[in-house]
Amino acid sequence: MADKLEKADVEWQAQLTQEQFRIARKKGTERAFTGEYWNEHRAGTYACVCCGQELFSSDTKYDSGSGWPSFYQPIAADRIDTETDRSLFMKRTEVLCSRCEAHLGHVFPDGPRPTGLRYCINSASLTLKPTDEKK
Ligand code: FE
Repeated sequence: MADKLEKADVEWQAQLTQEQFRIARKKGTERAFTGEYWNEHRAGTYACVCCGQELFSSDTKYDSGSGWPSFYQPIAADRIDTETDRSLFMKRTEVLCSRCEAHLGHVFPDGPRPTGLRYCINSASLTLKPTDEKK
């Protein structure tokens, strides 16, 4: 696995938009159907907006109807960390980038086969690298 990347808030603020910082570094959530990628259908790889680690493939993206980009699995299990999140009077499983601990979203047990998981991810925490633009 790649080495951990740690930066101070001021450094993240310098490279991210306010919305990206609020969501990825401060565990925020974008409003449903407002993000850049919930309705994105191009082929490519979704990387962490903070550190660039590749997290999800468009091959595993599906239309969950939730208004957030949804995937049924990460590119590799070690690309993400999970934490129990008890905020908002719910018990949910938070999904984070394993390299820089960016908040990505949550994972729910109501996804499609083969995993049965729904990684419900904020667009603001991702950068899509379309396949035809990759080197
Ligand atoms: Fe990251």
